[in-house]
Amino acid sequence: MPRSTDPAAAVDLLRIDDELTDEERLVRDTVRDFAAKRILPNVADWFEAGILPRELAPELGQLGLLGMHLTGYGCAGMGPVAYGVTCREMEAADSGLRSLVSVQGSLAMFPIWKYGSEEQKQEWLPRMAAGEALGCFGLTEPDHGSDPSGMSTVARKDGSDWVLNGAKMWITNGSVADIAVVWASTEHGIRGFLVPRAAKGFSSRNIHKKLSLRASVTSELHFDDVRLPDSAMLPGVQGLRGPLSCLSEARFGIVWGVTGAARTCFEVAAEYARTREQFGRKIGGFQLTQGKLAWMLADLQRAQLLALHLGRLKAAGKITPEQVSLGKMSNVRTAIDIARQARTILGANGVTLEYPVIRHANNLESVLTYEGTEEVHALALGQAVTGISAYR
Ligand SMILES: Cc1cc2nc3c(=O)[nH]c(=O)nc-3n(C[C@H](O)[C@H](O)[C@H](O)COP(=O)(O)OP(=O)(O)OC[C@H]3O[C@@H](n4cnc5c(N)ncnc54)[C@H](O)[C@@H]3O)c2cc1C
Repeated sequence: MPRSTDPAAAVDLLRIDDELTDEERLVRDTVRDFAAKRILPNVADWFEAGILPRELAPELGQLGLLGMHLTGYGCAGMGPVAYGVTCREMEAADSGLRSLVSVQGSLAMFPIWKYGSEEQKQEWLPRMAAGEALGCFGLTEPDHGSDPSGMSTVARKDGSDWVLNGAKMWITNGSVADIAVVWASTEHGIRGFLVPRAAKGFSSRNIHKKLSLRASVTSELHFDDVRLPDSAMLPGVQGLRGPLSCLSEARFGIVWGVTGAARTCFEVAAEYARTREQFGRKIGGFQLTQGKLAWMLADLQRAQLLALHLGRLKAAGKITPEQVSLGKMSNVRTAIDIARQARTILGANGVTLEYPVIRHANNLESVLTYEGTEEVHALALGQAVTGISAYR
């Protein structure tokens, strides 16, 4: 029976990556290489400064990673597992970077690709795939987060135009986006609108003092009598189904992404345990440390298997929103537990940006909350199990 003798290889103890196709492995290696060269040397400084350079977008576009799971219009047309692996390798560097890719591909490009008119697709998708234009997704409002059905942003018909009023809150890439996909209440239910940055009456303001997802721009959007032509509305969807279907796409990326953050934390903690000495011996030689590492590894492998399983289900066209809820809820919680456990192994070094662990642990707090909080996904699963809705 073959034995793994290299402790560093233990991170893929179950050889889950052997299940990837050659193409998926190529995507993995390409993204890993990009992250190693372009992101890892800088990301702690970006996190500390609270920035993510806009110039990264065209570089990601050149690699074919923006809207990579969509077809046509300059998109790479890759499968869900390749997209998942990309999210994993991005988030192994930082959740902020993965957020940029998820928001662009799943929350901004996807609704245009799925529900947009041919003109909207032609106008935006090729530039967004290239990273020349950035998008954002405006659903959450100051007073409406988990329950977007009560949104106060309103689009009112005025002749052949629409007039948009309201505010959105916590919008990733909000102030750097060239185009905002904004969900608003209309006489005929919730509709999506493409609002260009230059639209008169549209303004944005960055949210400061975040202690999580700092290498990511988060903004408020304000709409003050923004006049839009009828052609700005997404014609293909009506009702909450529109934004929720986009969120389901993006949550799938999170299921994978957080396994990357968890993997980094595990690797750093394992390496630290192998080298740090206390009481005259390596801390990795203490049974308590080994117990922590063993559970972290088992949890990480389970999370990775879950991501791969959901990826293959999605590729077969069989994935359901409840399955995505299970994956998001379970894998984010697992990743947070692994990050916190890793932090303890690093002792005081665990609280500095010299090591990536506290950065990942803090980032994962946002990931726990956005795209459906842990509680909201628990309610979705509770409803699936009991047939009873407990939302209200
Ligand atoms: C860094 C960051 C980036 C984000 N990016 C975006 C973005 O790009 N676009 C966008 O639209 N939004 C974005 N969000 C917003 C995010 O989706 C919301 O924060 C999230 O949906 C929760 O809404 P809320 O913060 O208003 O919390 P609330 O909805 O006020 O929830 C507060 C607490 O109450 C719980 N709760 C609410 N309802 C129930 C219930 N029925 N039963 C049990 N518990 C309940 C919640 O689970 C939570 O624990 C982002 C958030 C963050 C932090």
